[in-house]
Amino acid sequence: MSIISTDQKYIASTYKRFPVEIVKGRGSEVFDAEGKRYIDMGSGIGVTAFGIADEEWQQAVIGQIGKVQHMSNLYYTEPCAKLAEQLCLKSGMKKVFFGNSGAEANEGAIKAARKYSAEKKGSSCYTIITLINSFHGRTLTTLAATGQDHFHQLFQPLTPGFIHVPANDTEALERAVDENEIAGIMMECIQGEGGVRALDRGYVKAAAKLCSDKDIPLIIDEVQSGNGRSGRMYSYQNYDIMPDVVSTAKGLAGGLPIGAVLLGEKLQDVFSYGDHGSTFGGNPVSCAAALSVVNRIDEQLLESVRKKSAYLFDTLGKAEGITEVSGMGLMIGLSTIRPAGEVLAECMRNGVLCLTAKDKLRLLPALNIPEELLREAAGIIMKACS
Ligand SMILES: *Cc1c(COP(=O)(O)O)cnc(C)c1O
Repeated sequence: MSIISTDQKYIASTYKRFPVEIVKGRGSEVFDAEGKRYIDMGSGIGVTAFGIADEEWQQAVIGQIGKVQHMSNLYYTEPCAKLAEQLCLKSGMKKVFFGNSGAEANEGAIKAARKYSAEKKGSSCYTIITLINSFHGRTLTTLAATGQDHFHQLFQPLTPGFIHVPANDTEALERAVDENEIAGIMMECIQGEGGVRALDRGYVKAAAKLCSDKDIPLIIDEVQSGNGRSGRMYSYQNYDIMPDVVSTAKGLAGGLPIGAVLLGEKLQDVFSYGDHGSTFGGNPVSCAAALSVVNRIDEQLLESVRKKSAYLFDTLGKAEGITEVSGMGLMIGLSTIRPAGEVLAECMRNGVLCLTAKDKLRLLPALNIPEELLREAAGIIMKACS
């Protein structure tokens, strides 16, 4: 049987895959089983931060696999400690908890906010506010956090204690805080799955001030927007705010599973022994991979991300058939006159892999995509849109 039919027979039908089997790649180019070449403008949904099979990343992974691949959280290992140190230096946060995915990072962030608020304000203070159109994950709790009803159907009852308010509406946020006992406010500064929308600057700043005034933990979900994607290490750094909790995952280990909860000054000691855990969390191979990724996200790399972003905003913004370019950095949404699904299919036929988000085409190329490939991909995308 072919790989495609074996997969269709034995893999649960949760994913609608494209009829393409990817067998290898290098950087931002990947090849299918028939030898066809594609420029990768999706990077595994923002995961392969430095592309496919990157040499430096491979060295970090292979080097660590040859030393120790797993020891559990009963012992100290170097990559875990060093990665946590770098994450704190780059974020301004104070402590880190490692898990394995974005949803798990958000679960940890929610637990941290709930414990902090229960201890300070009593056990009835557990409600978390999130935004309509947000996406925070697929576990029952992060689904409850996700402000999109269509994900909720069929899985009731979800974890109680979440309310959703419209994005960029400061009054609605203030009202929700006044009318409920609020244990945390959680948001993506740049909504990803919800349609690649950067929140308004004034709104994010007002939310941060409200949280600080009322002693409510502010959780910023940097699962997609973090790790250099926005042109800064974390998207909140474009907004001049300091969150209390940051969750991140996707691009952090460049293609290996990892999730991290970063705890700021106020919540740094919220977890004590036994409060939280994860068997694979802090895995030395994932952490060594992430350390190599994080060490490469320096000011020079971030500057190049912003430059590539400006090129795409400028070029695609003027293109026929594209009505709006949204997002930030190399997290870009295109509103197209043709349905995004059709544009995506034509791009794929012409050798460019893209993503969609809601009714938009979404681009999340590797942070180090070479400029020639970016230009070539932009040309193919524009042709498909026109
Ligand atoms: C992808 C994503 C998640 C979920 O991450 P998983 O690793 O799939 O669990 C959570 N929040 C945001 C903003 C995401 O983009």
